[in-house]
Amino acid sequence: MCICINCKWVDRCITYHDVESNHGVNHICDLPDFKAKKPYIHVNIVKDNGNYKTDWDVQSCESFENEFGKWSKCNPGMEIPA
Ligand code: SF4
Repeated sequence: MCICINCKWVDRCITYHDVESNHGVNHICDLPDFKAKKPYIHVNIVKDNGNYKTDWDVQSCESFENEFGKWSKCNPGMEIPA
């Protein structure tokens, strides 16, 4: 699970914007302006219905600031991305 979903910066973060692009999901914001310090991104190659896709997860980041449920606050009623 990507740590960004509970990070204060998720709605402004350039790295998370890239993660959204790689997951092919909608962006929380169009023009992110926060540059994360040393995000460590774990990339998995997974088989999905016979096709391969890459799955990106930020596993650690020096800029992480805990704000539990921040992603959900920005996306009320939506399922948290896996
Ligand atoms: S954990 Fe790092 S990469 Fe993820 S939203 Fe926060 S600042 Fe951005």
